[in-house]
Amino acid sequence: MSASLAVGLVAVLALVFVVMRGQPDAGGPGNAGGVGAIGSPDSVVLTEERPGGPPESTPDSFQVAEDELRRAVEAHNRAFQAGDLGGYLKIFDQGDAELLEQQTNTFDNLRKLPFEEAAFEVQQGEGLAKDAFGNWISFSFDVTLEHRFDGVDLRPVAEWYRWTVAKAGENAPPTVTAVTGTPATSGDSETDSYPAPWDSWPDISVVTTEHTVVLTRSAQADMGARVAPLAEQAAVADLDFWARNGDTGTPVPARYMIVLAKGEDEQGNLFRRSKRQATEAGISISMLSSSPEEGSWYVGGSRIVTNSNAWYFGDVDGGVDELRELFHHEIAHSLLAPLEHGASLSSLDKWVVEGFAEYVATHGQSLDEDGQTPETRAYVRGERDRPFEGRIPDNASWDLHGLVGVNYQLSHLAMQMIAERYGEQKAVAFVLAHYRGKTADAALTEVLGIGREDFERQWAEYVRAKFA
Ligand SMILES: [Zn+2]
Repeated sequence: MSASLAVGLVAVLALVFVVMRGQPDAGGPGNAGGVGAIGSPDSVVLTEERPGGPPESTPDSFQVAEDELRRAVEAHNRAFQAGDLGGYLKIFDQGDAELLEQQTNTFDNLRKLPFEEAAFEVQQGEGLAKDAFGNWISFSFDVTLEHRFDGVDLRPVAEWYRWTVAKAGENAPPTVTAVTGTPATSGDSETDSYPAPWDSWPDISVVTTEHTVVLTRSAQADMGARVAPLAEQAAVADLDFWARNGDTGTPVPARYMIVLAKGEDEQGNLFRRSKRQATEAGISISMLSSSPEEGSWYVGGSRIVTNSNAWYFGDVDGGVDELRELFHHEIAHSLLAPLEHGASLSSLDKWVVEGFAEYVATHGQSLDEDGQTPETRAYVRGERDRPFEGRIPDNASWDLHGLVGVNYQLSHLAMQMIAERYGEQKAVAFVLAHYRGKTADAALTEVLGIGREDFERQWAEYVRAKFA
C-alpha cells in the first residue's frame, strides 16, 4: 500500500521538425527535447521558428513541418471528439491489423469513460530518423492525451504516448506505425502514466458510484459491481474524516478512480511501467498536472490500482473488512495527493504519508485487531535481530530489514499519538503542512510546537507502553 508519483515531462514544443537524410543507422539519438541548431545528419532536429520561415529543404533532406504533424493530430483529435472511428484510425498504418485493432479498442474504451475533458495534443519530436532504403524516414513523436475525469482530477493531467511516425516521401502523409509510452525522465516508472487500462484492455467496464469510478476488464465487470459499494463506503468515510478535520479552504477530489488489475505484473503496469516487481495490494499513483500553476508543478489527481488477485477480492464476504480498509487507505493518499507540488513531489516522509493513510483507514481499531501487532510487538520488545532504537522510520530504511509492516504500524501509532495529544484537526494540519512543502521536522515545530527530539522520545515511550 504505497503512494507513488508518475513524474511528468516538461513539454517542449518544437516549432519545426527537420529530418535530414543521411547514412542508414548512423548517428546518435536525436536532440532529446532540446531546441537547437541542425545537428548530425541522422537526427530529427528541433529548431525554433525563424523570422524568415522554416529552413529550406535541401536535396539531401526533406522537412516534416510541425504544421503537417499538428494538422494530422488535430484531425485525429477531431475524429475522437466526434466519435468517428474511421477518422480516428486514419493516422495509423492501415496495413497493420494488430495496431488497428489495438487502437480501435482504445477508441471504444475512451468513449466509455466519464471525462470532463479529453483531447490529443502534439508535444515534441525526437529520436533517430532512419533512411534504410533511401526513400522513407521514420522518427518518434510525442502526443499526449490531456484529460480530466469528472470529480477525480482537480487539474488536467496528461498521458504521454510516443508515436513512431513514418513518411514515405516528401509528399506522403505521416503515418503512425507504432504506439508506446514516452520514456520518463525520473521516478520509479519507465514511462509517464502509460499504459492506461484503456490502452491495455480489449474492453473496459466502468462502474460509477457517487464518489468512485471503478474500472475493470469487461470480463471482470461483476467483480467491479461487487466491490464498487465498498469503495463508495470507504470514499464517503474518508471524505467525512476530511470534512471534520480538514482545511475547508483546500479543495480535494470528490471522486476516486479505482482500477482492478489482475496479478502482480499488471499491478506494476497500469499508469506506469514499474522498474521493480509490484508486490503491493494497492497503490495510489499521483498524476502530475499537465501545466504548472504559479510556477510550480502540482499533482492533478490520482489513480488507485489494486491487485484483484489478492484473496479478499475473490471472497468479498470473507475479506470485506480488508478490502474496505485497502480502499480507505489508498483513497486517503488520493485525497491529499493534489497538494503535492514542487519540492514536496516524491520527497515526502513515508512515516507521515503512510501514518496518515493508516490512521484514516483503521483508527478506532484495537491493537489486537491488527494482524501486524505480534511482529511489531516482538520488534519493539527487542526480540528481533535488529534492536528497536526509538527512531521514527525513515525513507532510506523503510523497505530494508524486513520491517515494512512494522514501519507502517509504528507510523500509524505516531499519527495516533499526535491525534490523541493534540486532536485530529492538529494531526491533519501537521500532515497538510508537510504536503505543502515544510519538512516533517519544521511542521512538528510550527504546527504542534514540539521539536523533533522531544517528539521522537515521546513517541518511543508511547510505542513501548503500547506493546509492553
Ligand atoms: Zn500507502
